[in-house]
Amino acid sequence: MNEWNIQSRASACESCTTPFADKQSLHTLLFDEAPELRRMDICDNCWQNQFSQGARDRKGFLSHWQTIYEAPTPQVDAIHKDTAETLLRKLIEQNDPRYAPAGYILAVMLERKRILKVKEQIVRDGKRVFIYEQPKTGDIFTIADPNLRLDQLEQVQRDVAQLLEHGLNPPEQNETPQQISEQPVSPIEQT
Ligand SMILES: [Zn+2]
Repeated sequence: MNEWNIQSRASACESCTTPFADKQSLHTLLFDEAPELRRMDICDNCWQNQFSQGARDRKGFLSHWQTIYEAPTPQVDAIHKDTAETLLRKLIEQNDPRYAPAGYILAVMLERKRILKVKEQIVRDGKRVFIYEQPKTGDIFTIADPNLRLDQLEQVQRDVAQLLEHGLNPPEQNETPQQISEQPVSPIEQT
C-alpha cells in the first residue's frame, strides 16, 4: 500500500445518497480492499439497516466509528502560512517517499495538539499503520509508521522544523540534483 493518503468525508450517504445535514450523526467504515483501505460514510438509517446486525467480519469492514457531520466552512483556505497540518497535507499530496518520516512526525505532533485523533491502529504488509481523523473536516489520514531508529529521529525532527519554517518548496530551484538514497528504513533496533 501507499505510505500514506487522505480520504475526505463524503457530503452525502454513500448508500442512500441523502446529503448529510450539519451536526447530523453518521458512520464511517473502513474496508480492507487491498492494496488500499477504502472509506465509506453512511447515515444512521443505512447503518441500522445494513451493517449494525451480524458479525463484523461477515460484513467485511475493518473499522467503524460514529461521528458528527460538520458542514464545511468557507474560510478554510484563508491561511497561507504553512501550519503542521497544511504541511502534512502537502507532503501527502506530493507523495514523495523521502518525506514519509517527516509526515509521520507531523502526524504525531498534530495528535499531541489534539488536531488529529487516532481512530485505529492496524498492521498491513508487516507495517504499523495509523488511521487519524481530523474531526473538523472529517478527513481521514492513513499514515504508515516508518520505524525510525533513535539515531534517525533527530535528523527527521530537524527536517520537520526546517519545513515548517521555510515551507515545502523554497524559492531557489536551481540546486544540483541530489543523490536520492533509497535505502529502506530498518526497524528500531532492540537494545
Ligand atoms: Zn443512508
